[in-house]
Amino acid sequence: METKFVVVLGSLLSGLGKGIVTSSIAKILSFYNLNAMPMKFDGYLNYDCGTMNPFRHGEVFVLEDGSEVDMDFGTYERFLNRNMNGAFSMTGGKIFSEIIAKERSGGFLGSDVQIVPHLTNMIIEKVERLAKNENLDVLLVETGGTVGDIENSYFVEAMRQLALKRKVVFIDLTYVPELETVGEQKTKPSQIALRGLRQEGIQPDFIICRANRKLDEKTRDKLALFANLQREYVIDDNDVSDIYGMPQYFMKQNFDKLLLNRLGLEGKAIDEKLVAKWDDCITNKSQNRPITISIVGKYVNLHDSYASVTEALKHAAVANGTNIKLNWLESEALEGMDEAMVDDILSKSDGILVPGGFGKRGTEGMISAIRYARVKGVPYLGLCLGMQLMVIEYARDVCGIKDAGSMEFDSACSNVIDMMEEQKKVERLGGTMRLGGWSAVIRPGTASHSAYGTTDINERHRHRYEVNNAYLKTFEEMNLVISAMAKNNNLVEMTEWKSHFGIGTQAHPEFKSRPENPSPLFKAFIKSAVERASSHEERESIKVST
Ligand code: GLN
Repeated sequence: METKFVVVLGSLLSGLGKGIVTSSIAKILSFYNLNAMPMKFDGYLNYDCGTMNPFRHGEVFVLEDGSEVDMDFGTYERFLNRNMNGAFSMTGGKIFSEIIAKERSGGFLGSDVQIVPHLTNMIIEKVERLAKNENLDVLLVETGGTVGDIENSYFVEAMRQLALKRKVVFIDLTYVPELETVGEQKTKPSQIALRGLRQEGIQPDFIICRANRKLDEKTRDKLALFANLQREYVIDDNDVSDIYGMPQYFMKQNFDKLLLNRLGLEGKAIDEKLVAKWDDCITNKSQNRPITISIVGKYVNLHDSYASVTEALKHAAVANGTNIKLNWLESEALEGMDEAMVDDILSKSDGILVPGGFGKRGTEGMISAIRYARVKGVPYLGLCLGMQLMVIEYARDVCGIKDAGSMEFDSACSNVIDMMEEQKKVERLGGTMRLGGWSAVIRPGTASHSAYGTTDINERHRHRYEVNNAYLKTFEEMNLVISAMAKNNNLVEMTEWKSHFGIGTQAHPEFKSRPENPSPLFKAFIKSAVERASSHEERESIKVST
């Protein structure tokens, strides 16, 4: 079947959840056994997301092939339960560097190279090639930013041209505000935005409307009128409580049938088993009191910086039949506190997690939290930096290496965390960390082994530093278990305490966690947090009754 295209744009403002909408549409098509995948265009001139600040841009997501991409890719992979690769991510930086390289190598001899047709043709070729290489029935194209921005204008133009020769359905995401004083949903911003879209030569096939509450019938009619659409092509996207329920919410509005029709795929039958499986994996049936997981990091004010960690915890909670409450703790704030205050703040934790991060700021606060977890028997999960700090804490407090630290923060200390050999030669900082999926071998009989249920694992990475092997003998003698090593070299991949559940991993298992395939390590962490919570409750009730 020749690939069809669905282009998702935003005409009014960004930040409306275009990634979730695009993922939901791809998921709906997958319920019909169609091979549908999303790609994303981002207008910035960075080659990829690797050099961006997570505090501003949200999490940098890492794909299996090592591409550092926008956090929307995390949403795509979680919804679709499929791995993607770097070709699905198109940025202004990639396109411009490629066209200039082509011009320099004589690829356009004799022409003056222009946005139209040279750059737009290159975009169209790339989009069509991706669709062909991946053998897709439908390629969804999410366009970052807002129509009218200089940044994505040439891309929007390329999509207009694509529609001249291929089957393209355009979906516009807009926002319907409501003024509290008037109590009425206002359509004017969308009317103006739709005018802007038509100015670019695009008539949407559907408009999807974000709003604080369900669209009033009157609002829907008015939007339809100004969008040149029949009312059922105006789709409601009000805040559903769980993003994973979005595909079903759209389907209730008959969106699936209308879309298939527009794509010329009417008559395709839905596979109810796939819908039921999805429903089952996303529905948390637990009625229990939630357990509390404290996340101690330095970007906690912007939860998007840890999007995959949060999602992986949710998947693990559903898999364990429990609810969780996240207690976000700014690690730097813990640094100014004495031990009693830190104890007090962390005392409600059934589990403590230190996520990945870069730079020294806040690391001493994270180390205090790790010490608390180790000494008080609280389950601990350390991700990447969280493993490195777990090793530093142990080196200082148990092995007596008082000045233990990381080369990343202080080259003059005992560097129990050191720079990787191959990193020492690196001069350019973009895309040069240890990135993507790497295999590791777990030591049999360890807690890491029972978490994964296998000794051969593969997880995604993004780091420059590693445990310094000169200290391994000391660590082992002092009972810090080195529970996994990289498969093809001598890098420490996992560490654990002997006393209770405390595991650090150099990898980011959160990147591979999906509702239909939760991370085994997160599952094991939540399981031990649940056990601790219930043994705590038991102890409390004994105290009360005696
Ligand atoms: N900053 C550490 C390193 O580069 C950890 C990176 C991370 O947590 N992703 O090794």
